[in-house]
Amino acid sequence: MNTATELQYPPLQAESPFELRRNLGSKMPEAQVRQALASGEMGFLHSFTTGSTVDGPGVRLVAWTTGCQFRCLYCHNPDTWNVNNGIPVTLSMAIEQLRKYRHGLKVMAGGFTLSGGEPLLQDRFAVRLLGAAQNMGIHTALDTNGSLGNRLSDQELNAIDLVLLDIKCWNPELHQYLTATAIDPVLQFARRLASRKRPVWLRYVLVPDLTDDPHDVGQLANFAAQLGNIERVDILPFHQLGQYKWKELNLNYTLQHVQPPSAQHVGIVRDSFRARGLNAY
Ligand code: SF4
Repeated sequence: MNTATELQYPPLQAESPFELRRNLGSKMPEAQVRQALASGEMGFLHSFTTGSTVDGPGVRLVAWTTGCQFRCLYCHNPDTWNVNNGIPVTLSMAIEQLRKYRHGLKVMAGGFTLSGGEPLLQDRFAVRLLGAAQNMGIHTALDTNGSLGNRLSDQELNAIDLVLLDIKCWNPELHQYLTATAIDPVLQFARRLASRKRPVWLRYVLVPDLTDDPHDVGQLANFAAQLGNIERVDILPFHQLGQYKWKELNLNYTLQHVQPPSAQHVGIVRDSFRARGLNAY
């Protein structure tokens, strides 16, 4: 099996997820890929990054998976859409990375976050890696678009300390336009997490003139407030850091003229959530 131990791969550790990575797993035979994904013995990772303070509590080690079925117009890491762009990494290699950082993460009251891409496209790998982290006493977070939440059993959900749930917008038509997928499975997963009282941080990317409709934001805030398990809401301002990747990958980027929202604009949206009693930042 080709693995990242061989020299043709860049280091697993990246400066940031904004490094463009592609075709790193494309030499793996398809049958082997399918088998690895089914067992969770191997996964495909864009990279590991360290030192994040925005992907869960404390300082985080983050593993960025490849593969995503959404096509968000504002995606800043479209090189993670295709699973084959990632480095094939055995489960034991990934666990070794966790082991390297576990003491530091505990000292900094941080933990491990599995992000992507959409980690649940590699659900068996995700479950096994998060489980291994938890067994080492590391706080675990799963950053997900929520649409594949039904791949996790209730028991598996219990092994994740925190879900970072990205809800892209409230309006179903807009969701389809924005992500090329339906919103219903996302909301179903949100309700399931609530019924099981699993801690959730809600993440919302604010894109001027796209996801800032006050009525829709208010509806989402109402929904979030009723769930009862949303510990925190993060309003993430749209930015252009990933724009160059769209160009490099020959993808049609349509938001090149959109400016990041002003601090005041972010504040207005944040206040919509706060007005419903949510801790929004
Ligand atoms: S869910 Fe995340 S990784 Fe997938 S397209 Fe949207 S922003 Fe990109």
